Amino acid sequence: MTTQRRILMIPGPVEISPAVASAYAGPPEGHLAPDLIEAFGASLEMMRRIWLAPPGAQPFLFAGSGTNAMEMAVANLIEPADAVIVVNTGYFSDRMVEMLRRAGAEIVELTAVPGEVPNASRAEGAIADLKRAGKRVKALFATHVDTSTGALCDPKPLAAIAQAEGVLSVFDGVCATAGERFEMETWGADVYLTASQKAIGLPPGLALMVVSERALAARDARKTPPPLAADWRSWIPVMQAYEARTPAYFATPPTNLVLALRAGLAEILNQGMEACFTRHERGAAALRAAWSALGLRAVPARERNAAHTLSALYFPSGLDATLVLRIAERGVYVAGGLHPAIRGQYFRVGHMGYVLTRADMLMRTVEAIGAALTASGHAVDTERAVRAMLAELQTAAI
Ligand code: PMP
Repeated sequence: MTTQRRILMIPGPVEISPAVASAYAGPPEGHLAPDLIEAFGASLEMMRRIWLAPPGAQPFLFAGSGTNAMEMAVANLIEPADAVIVVNTGYFSDRMVEMLRRAGAEIVELTAVPGEVPNASRAEGAIADLKRAGKRVKALFATHVDTSTGALCDPKPLAAIAQAEGVLSVFDGVCATAGERFEMETWGADVYLTASQKAIGLPPGLALMVVSERALAARDARKTPPPLAADWRSWIPVMQAYEARTPAYFATPPTNLVLALRAGLAEILNQGMEACFTRHERGAAALRAAWSALGLRAVPARERNAAHTLSALYFPSGLDATLVLRIAERGVYVAGGLHPAIRGQYFRVGHMGYVLTRADMLMRTVEAIGAALTASGHAVDTERAVRAMLAELQTAAI
């Protein structure tokens, strides 16, 4: 089994498609080369379609990771003493809180136990309370999928509440964008940000986000500008130039990643967004059938709160994080726990993007987990789990 290539089943970085790999591995490209300009411009256009963004929204792509994208949103929107609401679903929401704290925001956090998601109506209540206290609420922040628990938050009601209250809505889609349904225009969301190494299907290294006109206006209404390299205004001329297929420079983009991005985004759009969301839903359902056959319980107690891009699974009683190593010995890399409250009690399996087209990789994952459980003294029927997964995949025909 270990003679096969190891496969990367952590919740990002993920396995990438052959088309993305070959675009990435081509000869180095200059940032003003015609093909790079074309790839950059086409990627921005495709982002608009993948985000289902309104016409006036501005896409950005730049060197960095999801954390840089989060920081850019905070740097442009938040000024000291701004009141903000954070729907906190775990480790990455905590990170957003820390960024907001450093920006001087007055933060109201809505919390829930790991795996649960605060009810959207609590956001409405929190905004009303702040308004009664005479505060102007600037923005609401939420993590679409919190990768530390596998909890899926529904952005739709949150975006609607924010819009009705004149509050900006910012969604961290790092473990969700192109894997979970998000309709920026119809839902009225203001910022949706991600990184390249998850459901976008690239290696790490690019931060991506689309920003509404309302959010850009909030940046322009600031008393002081954001740090230069984080400022949307520094980047807008470059994004506009590339989209118009003309050369521009503010800071050097990771050129081969941009070539890979064009290939990756085209693969997503060739499927179509509906098919892309459905593929993730069906892939998750197939793997859930396998987890249930292996007797594994998910961290999100309710299936409607469970992400389609990753599974967070408790170790069966008596087992611990050495299970992750035993799975790795079988050529499949999964991730350990991350949420501080339950860190040693669970592990995480990513299932987004290219791997969903590879039933063989999904099978190897279930086989490796089943074999590792059995080798750890927790005997399971791995074949039954694989059959349960394949049966779901066949009905779903992903
Ligand atoms: N937000 C979420 C939901 C994430 O899953 C991650 C990364 N796992 C981040 C933010 C941070 O992204 P990065 O590691 O690319 O900086």
